[in-house]
Amino acid sequence: MTARGKSMTVTARARRIFRKFGISADQAGVFSGKWHGRGTWLEKRSPIDGSLIGRVRQASPADYDAAVRAARGAFLAWRDLPAPKRGEVVRCLGQALREAKEDLGALVGIEAGKILAEGLGEVQEMIDICDFAVGLSRQLHGLTIASERKDHRMMEQWHPLGVVGIISAFNFPVAVWSWNSAVAAVCGDTTLWKPSEKTPFTAIACIKIAERVCRECRVDPAVFCLVVGDGSSVGERMTSDRRIPLVSATGSVRMGRRVAEVVGKRLGRSLLELGGNNGIIIAPSADLGLAVRAVLFGAAGTAGQRCTTTRRLFIHESIYDRVVRRLRKAYAQIPVGNPLDEGTLMGPLIDSAAVAGMQRALVAVVAEGARVIQGGEILKGRRYRPGHYVRPCIVEARADMTLIHEETFAPILYLLRYRRLADAVRDHNAVPQGLSSAIFTNDLREAELFLSARGSDCGIANVNIGTSGAEIGGAFGGEKDTGGGRESGSDAWKAYMRRQ
Ligand code: NAD
Repeated sequence: MTARGKSMTVTARARRIFRKFGISADQAGVFSGKWHGRGTWLEKRSPIDGSLIGRVRQASPADYDAAVRAARGAFLAWRDLPAPKRGEVVRCLGQALREAKEDLGALVGIEAGKILAEGLGEVQEMIDICDFAVGLSRQLHGLTIASERKDHRMMEQWHPLGVVGIISAFNFPVAVWSWNSAVAAVCGDTTLWKPSEKTPFTAIACIKIAERVCRECRVDPAVFCLVVGDGSSVGERMTSDRRIPLVSATGSVRMGRRVAEVVGKRLGRSLLELGGNNGIIIAPSADLGLAVRAVLFGAAGTAGQRCTTTRRLFIHESIYDRVVRRLRKAYAQIPVGNPLDEGTLMGPLIDSAAVAGMQRALVAVVAEGARVIQGGEILKGRRYRPGHYVRPCIVEARADMTLIHEETFAPILYLLRYRRLADAVRDHNAVPQGLSSAIFTNDLREAELFLSARGSDCGIANVNIGTSGAEIGGAFGGEKDTGGGRESGSDAWKAYMRRQ
């Protein structure tokens, strides 16, 4: 951020970035090869200070239909382009994102309230998945299988699927689109993105970048379409639309259940990336410095608003007091404030409803007998937008408490004491969600147990690193109520193609 950037208001900073991307303050929210929108206006205010950064004209039913038709039309040519040529377009997209990284990262901060380092990190993930997808474009391979019939060859090949619907959550407003669309694009699919209504401008910025890249590469820009609108109108329309063979939806378990039901009814495919309730076990032999740093980053990072946020901490009774002492000290030093300021480690929650949800959860868990030992209060004063900034919170709890089984999308960390590892693993697995998990131990047998069939039941199991974040090269996703979908690396691409 330049010195001038620092002294600007949030609105002025947003508008300066808008100009670079060709976005207007009153912006059409639908892209179907051209920009349009005749639905209602959506006002977007920054969670940082509540200032209005712009208005978006959302998709009407006719706008939505035009976008689906354009994405289907683009698919007919796109699927015929050799996959490595599609990869070349994605390579150019990755390059354009490198050039836009600073502005797009700052816009993520302005719109979603993430600290600058996290905004930039999110854009880096977009760049990384583009790189991954470029390589993948030369590796979309099938199998040849021994046939039982004489003089026969049997083979399996993969074809593009069609238009992929992408529904994304506010907390990863740009990366989730790229995890889906970069891979879908090299697979030969076109995409129609419905971003969170809480983060429309970062989505528009991404599609502006993709549009320019497509035009420069002389391919139909409707390969990457966009429809801004809310879940109950545009989201429902997309999930029930038979022209969309796959809906990849990221968000709450409540939303995922609805998407699974509606898509399932028409026998379409859904790829679900839903809520998590992630736990870390700290065993007696653990490197406590390493563990405490990981817990801090996992529990308070992104203000507790990551699907992989650490929410439950199982600490062996022999080291419980030491770990708690260290954690409390570290928590007391977390600078909360304007996420665009250097040095801030935690910004605001996305809106006042999220703060109210956090306060309700604390009241409920205390009523069950838990004890808040640090933080949790709403911050007041000139530096804080009223009702949006909180201190990250540590609560001593028991594994059988109701609230422990739910994902409260806020920085609350529940501490749980254990004696036997088997009991900690049992309690760890006793929640409905199954996204990310970790153990900190220097005992090889404990680590192996955690990674075994008897260990963590999550999609992601880590040893000596925290629950938060993911690597592009692996297949990302979780089990149980987290939805069972896998995105990003490994063989996750197969979800975006049809097997023949
Ligand atoms: P949300 O469920 O409120 O909204 C997510 C998206 O779903 C939005 O675009 C919304 O408009 C849309 N939507 C809502 N109802 C819909 C419907 N009936 N039909 C179609 N679309 C609908 O979630 P949120 O508050 O934006 O995000 C937070 C949640 O997302 C948390 O639970 C978090 O764990 C989860 N999340 C999961 C992952 C993952 O990869 N597993 C990643 C990020 C966030």
